Amino acid sequence: KVVSVSGASGYIASWLVKFLLQRGYTVKASVREPNDARKTEHLLVLDGAKERLQLFKADLMDEGSFDPVVEGCECVFHTASPFYLSATDPQAELIDPALKGTLNVLRSCTKVPSIKRVVITSSMAAVAFNGKPLAPDVIIDETWFSDPDFCEKSKLWYMLSKTLAEEAAWKFTKENGIDMVTINPGLVIGPLLQPTLNTSSESVLKLINGAEKYPNTTFRWVDVRDVANAHIYAFENSSASGRYCLVGSVVHSSETLEILHKLFPELKIPKECADDKPPSTKYQVSKKRAENLGIKFTPLDVSLKDTVESLKEKNLVS
Ligand code: NDP
Repeated sequence: KVVSVSGASGYIASWLVKFLLQRGYTVKASVREPNDARKTEHLLVLDGAKERLQLFKADLMDEGSFDPVVEGCECVFHTASPFYLSATDPQAELIDPALKGTLNVLRSCTKVPSIKRVVITSSMAAVAFNGKPLAPDVIIDETWFSDPDFCEKSKLWYMLSKTLAEEAAWKFTKENGIDMVTINPGLVIGPLLQPTLNTSSESVLKLINGAEKYPNTTFRWVDVRDVANAHIYAFENSSASGRYCLVGSVVHSSETLEILHKLFPELKIPKECADDKPPSTKYQVSKKRAENLGIKFTPLDVSLKDTVESLKEKNLVS
């Protein structure tokens, strides 16, 4: 079976490519820089890559550049989208590649009759940011949508980019008869296959590396291996449909640091919260649909342990 993965050199996509190759798929994978070893080496050494991984050059902003990547595929996994929280020109850096890029990929898909399903990596960024009050008994689920006006007013540009992209994808796929499923992960952690940091693995590093104070924030963590598997199950399980929130644990920074301290007593774990307000509100994220899809969430301590060990291996922990 032939499938396609956009943005294959990325953190999540690298695990997705690894698992797809393990399951015997032929993978047509897009990268922006096929000649940059830092973006491709870790993919080319994966088991099965020699025989069944084909790299293509494609950019979200180049219309038609995904045509050869999706040609002849049964499933397209669209993961590529810029993920960083600081942008000087949010429209050009985040919103255009997310929104126009998603529509570009989907337009390429309309030309390929063999495609049975498109699985898009959306995000909890497109679910949870709507200004609704949160409380420990509030359960966020797949019926929630982030509110573009709320994101814009709050200058949550990445959240806005993912919300607009997902909304446009649902509209386009409905109008064009494409079967689409979205995976909406929280903040993704776990070991890195690629040599460079991405925004979410950096968030663990920021918690442990030198900072004296920790943010008064509640994080929605999920393991990268669970996220990659969810993409695959969303294709392989023909009855999968709609959106899947993927959040293994909702915990305050202080709790994350407590776990890290137990696992790695030698690390310089910050002990003081960055502000003296009460801890930011906890809430829940429904696991029902993800568990029905077949996901058994990796425990947070395992994900954190594997993340830090991976960061240490790469000499990133001071
Ligand atoms: P990475 O930064 O590792 O991956 C992002 C990927 O998008 C890279 O492969 C990057 O290519 C590609 N990309 C960015 N801009 C373009 C462009 N203009 N044209 C082609 N490709 C482009 O991040 P993640 O693996 O974390 O993110 C992957 C997906 O998962 C994104 O859609 C993100 O929004 C989503 N997500 C991530 C979460 C997380 O916590 N990590 C949580 C929820 C959702 P290049 O390598 O060339 O830069």
